[in-house]
Amino acid sequence: MRTVIRERLYLFDTTLRDGAQTNGVDFTLHDKLAIAGMLAELGIDYVEGGYPGANPIDSELFAADRKLDTTFTAFGMTRRPGRSTSNDPGLAALLEARADAICFVAKSWDYHVHVALETTLEENLASIRDSVRAAKAKGREVLLDCEHFFDGYKANPSYALACAQAAYEEGARWVVLCDTNGGTLPHEVEAIVREVVKHIPGDHVAIHAHNDTEQAVANSLAAVRAGARQIQGTLNGLGERCGNANLISIIPTLKLKPEFAAFEIGVSDEKLKSLAQVSRTLDEMLNRAPNRHAPYVGESAFVTKAGIHASAILKEPATYEHVPPAAIGNRRQVLVSEQGGRANVLFELDRIGIAVDKDDPRVPRLLDVIKERQTAGYAYEAADASFELLARRALGKVPNFFDVGKFDVHVEHRINAKGERITVTLAVVKVRVGNDDLISAAEGNGPVNALDLALRKDLGKYQKYIDRLKLTDYRVRILNTGTEAVTRVLIESEDENGEHWTTVGVSPNIIDASFQALMDSIVYKLVKAGAPA
Ligand SMILES: [Zn+2]
Repeated sequence: MRTVIRERLYLFDTTLRDGAQTNGVDFTLHDKLAIAGMLAELGIDYVEGGYPGANPIDSELFAADRKLDTTFTAFGMTRRPGRSTSNDPGLAALLEARADAICFVAKSWDYHVHVALETTLEENLASIRDSVRAAKAKGREVLLDCEHFFDGYKANPSYALACAQAAYEEGARWVVLCDTNGGTLPHEVEAIVREVVKHIPGDHVAIHAHNDTEQAVANSLAAVRAGARQIQGTLNGLGERCGNANLISIIPTLKLKPEFAAFEIGVSDEKLKSLAQVSRTLDEMLNRAPNRHAPYVGESAFVTKAGIHASAILKEPATYEHVPPAAIGNRRQVLVSEQGGRANVLFELDRIGIAVDKDDPRVPRLLDVIKERQTAGYAYEAADASFELLARRALGKVPNFFDVGKFDVHVEHRINAKGERITVTLAVVKVRVGNDDLISAAEGNGPVNALDLALRKDLGKYQKYIDRLKLTDYRVRILNTGTEAVTRVLIESEDENGEHWTTVGVSPNIIDASFQALMDSIVYKLVKAGAPA
């Protein structure tokens, strides 16, 4: 057997530093430690934690006992112009931080040296050399971020290169070429990196791309083709403005595309299968809905809608997929849609574990019901749990757990004793469970919330199954179905095991539509939990 020696390509994550610059993102110390742990676990070589000394959370993060299997990196400025390294408090804090590596940021565009730093080109080079030397003396691995490298190179190639070379010659492990404004195009990145690696070996050159022309991933890969051997990016492309290069897209491309088979990265095949989960975990921490259309990991990334495709997919999945979805922990899905035929329905029934003969007469009947309800506004492609209930009911497999005899929602807007305008909502629900009539009332911050609380307050013997059910998302859309406007409500729920599902309700009345979706969510949970009839 011949051993193929693959070239090592390194991954550097800056979610905690550059990603933290995103509008509306505010990581706590706990978040930062959890994300760093997740990145180390995934196999990311370098995790940039932030700026020690610049804010209390980052100082605590660097002081914390982290025990992470990754090169934990501190970020900060080179020494200020006109000062010595020993007389710069910012640099001192950086050098003292408990980090494995230090990433300095320095100007490499002559225009910025003059205008922003207000110093000479030679003093900027001296600052780079002195800072790298000081960090090396502290035993740290050193990286130098060459800010605005590509714009700088276009303006003055020899000076941009001189900045990079100064760091490399002083012993920096990596020279990072930053497309700080994010406006450089892939062919330009490739051409410039090719020039750089004539002077600095490619296994010391890194690429740091921003996504302002939506080509940060393409720019990163172009740099690798030209010889760079470290890619910097963030989870889900988090970052200021349009974001940074998205490691969640870059990692599977490097792992699964033959063009990059000559490279080895720190992420194993096994860990690659956790990628979809890693992406969703970050969204959860940020309280953001995951991007359904995210490449590789999005819920829609391996979804097929049309009927002819569905039958081909059933025969041979690879015909309509560029990579196998399970490799990144995603799944194949064939949408039950208006265009879909019997093959789609059979595929979905099989996926949710309902065994049915392909010639079963109930299948075309179910298909008719689906089409009819979709015309009325139900969106089963988004509401997997409602689809499953519809299918199970058509096949006679959902017990009648309880009946809602009536409900009443009362909204009152008034002025309270303090003279403030307030809105109070009260919902009352009458439920029959077995032979018991149960009446519950609840106040909520709105009619749907009150109804949800009242409905789930007392379900008798089923209460224990739904106690830890949570509503995690609620989306409303007004649809024009031709004759009248109706409201479609999608509700996302989560249970104690972290499982998510979505249900749908449609009605001219928003409360009624919400009620249908709530009912489906509870019944779905009872079915999943195997609650007795
Ligand atoms: Zn950046």
